[in-house]
Amino acid sequence: MLDDLESVLYTSEQLQSRIGEVGAQISRDYAQTHPLVIGVLKGAFVFLSDLVRHIDIPIEIDFIATSSYGSSTQSSGAVRMLKDLDQPAEGRDILLVEDIVDTGTTLNYLRDTLIRRGARSVKIASAFDKPSRRRIPIVPDYCCFTVPNAFLVGYGLDYAERYRHLSCVGILRPEIYTDEH
Ligand code: 5GP
Repeated sequence: MLDDLESVLYTSEQLQSRIGEVGAQISRDYAQTHPLVIGVLKGAFVFLSDLVRHIDIPIEIDFIATSSYGSSTQSSGAVRMLKDLDQPAEGRDILLVEDIVDTGTTLNYLRDTLIRRGARSVKIASAFDKPSRRRIPIVPDYCCFTVPNAFLVGYGLDYAERYRHLSCVGILRPEIYTDEH
């Protein structure tokens, strides 16, 4: 599977080391509260499971699912809720955990939705940030790595549901997909 990568951006060791730092920062920042940590499925499941094991304060975990790129590498611009939270957002300090911030459409929609439901605060933790592609001014409060404008796979990120289980993250070789990114 690694043969399908043009290059590896971050190895498993590099990811784990940086996530440890971010987890420690989150533990300090939320020391006075019990945040609700929300993983945005499917892509965030790997990052969330690593991140929460570096958080040493009481937290609750829930998941939300939105529509994704499917088998394409282009965002449609529209967000659909596929799975909602199991518990109310009202009054909660929420940490949204996302795989990558690209145009900002998904997180803008989720943040607005949670604020409208009465969340006390909403912050964003993202494994990767692709600021060059931003259409909506979303800035993650916690970000592990800023990445170039390329289509990434691995560490939760897929192409046509493949590659999510790679422990590194890398750039997919363009000949693997036909769409322009
Ligand atoms: P946004 O709404 O910010 O445009 O896009 C967010 C979602 O698009 C991410 O959660 C992810 O599922 C998908 N996405 C954005 N960039 C990439 C990428 O480089 N690789 C993959 N596999 N998915 C991406």
